[in-house]
Amino acid sequence: MTTVVFLEAAADELSQQAVTFAASLGDDVQPIAFDPSEGYAPAAWAQTLVELAQQRGAGAVVAPGTDRGNEVLAHIAAKLDQPMSANCMTVTPGDPATVVRMRWGGSLLEEARVHGSPLLLSAAPHAVAAAPVSDVEVVTVSASASEADSVVRVSETIPASTAGVSLADADVVVSGGRGVGSAEGFAIIEELAALLGGAVGCSRAVTSAGWRPHSDQVGQTGTKVSPEIYIACGISGATQHMAGCKGAKRLLAINPDGEASIFASADYAVIGDLHEVVPAISSEIRKVRG
Ligand SMILES: Cc1cc2nc3c(=O)[nH]c(=O)nc-3n(C[C@H](O)[C@H](O)[C@H](O)COP(=O)(O)OP(=O)(O)OC[C@H]3O[C@@H](n4cnc5c(N)ncnc54)[C@H](O)[C@@H]3O)c2cc1C
Repeated sequence: MTTVVFLEAAADELSQQAVTFAASLGDDVQPIAFDPSEGYAPAAWAQTLVELAQQRGAGAVVAPGTDRGNEVLAHIAAKLDQPMSANCMTVTPGDPATVVRMRWGGSLLEEARVHGSPLLLSAAPHAVAAAPVSDVEVVTVSASASEADSVVRVSETIPASTAGVSLADADVVVSGGRGVGSAEGFAIIEELAALLGGAVGCSRAVTSAGWRPHSDQVGQTGTKVSPEIYIACGISGATQHMAGCKGAKRLLAINPDGEASIFASADYAVIGDLHEVVPAISSEIRKVRG
C-alpha cells in the first residue's frame, strides 16, 4: 500500500514518528513537506495532499498527532467524506484496518476498526520511535489552492511569552493554577521559572480566566510537557491537566489542601500557600547562588 505522510516540518521528531508509524502499513511511504516559506494554510494544504494522494493511488494518508497534523487531516476527511482516526498508537492493515487509539489524554486505549479509503490516520505522539527522515526521500511541495481554501492562512508568527524557553522542550516547568489568584500573581511564577531557566505553564482555569495565553496551557487540550521537574503551584490535579504533565520525571506540588488529588502524583509535596512558598524557594536559590 502507498502511504502519503504529511510532515509538519521535515526535521521534527513527531513527523519522523509519523513516518515510522506509516511503515507498518507497507514499504511505500512517501513523506510530503510544505515549502517552509509558505504560511500554514490548513484547507489549502489538505487540498494539495488530497490531490497528491489521488495521483499516487495512496491507500492511506498519515499525519503526526499534533494540532496541525490533526487539523490538516480533518480537512482531508471532510473533503473526501471519509472517517479519520486521530491519535493512533498502532495500525494493522486489513479490510477493515484495525487501530489502537489513545483517548482521554492517554487514560484510555480504544481498539477500533476503520472502514474507509484512503485510511486517514494521525500518529499519537511518542507511541513509536522516530525514523530518521534522511533515510527516505522527502518531497517538498507548494500549496496550489483555490481562494476558498486560502481564506485561513498564518500571516504572522508572534513569539510565545515564555522568554525563549519553549514549554514543550523545557527541562523545568513552573506552572500556576487557579490558586495563583490573578494575572499579576504570575509574577512570582515567572520569577522562579526564570531563576531555573524554565518555562511558565498554567492550567485551563487560568487560560479561561484570561490570566495567561492558551499557548501556556498544559493538559489534554494544551501542551504536553516532559521536563525534568514540573512545579505545580495552586493546581488541583484534574485528569485533564495531568494528561499534559504525566511525562515529567519529577513533580513538586504546592497546595494548601492536603487532600488535593495532585498530591497522589507528586514526588515532592509542600502543603502551603504558594504566595509564601514560591518566593521562599526563589529566595533560597538566590542565596545558594550568592
Ligand atoms: C474536555 C476538557 C478538557 C480540559 N483540558 C484541560 C487542559 O488541557 N488543562 C487543564 O489544566 N485543564 C483542562 N480541563 C479543565 C480541568 O478539568 C480542571 O477544571 C482544571 O485543570 C482546573 O484547574 P486548576 O487546578 O487551576 O483549578 P482548581 O481545580 O480550581 O484548583 C485550584 C487549586 O488551587 C489551590 N489553591 C488555592 N489557593 C491556593 C494558594 N494560595 N496556594 C496554593 N494553592 C492554592 C486549591 O486548593 C485548588 O487545589 C479540561 C476540562 C475538560 C472538560
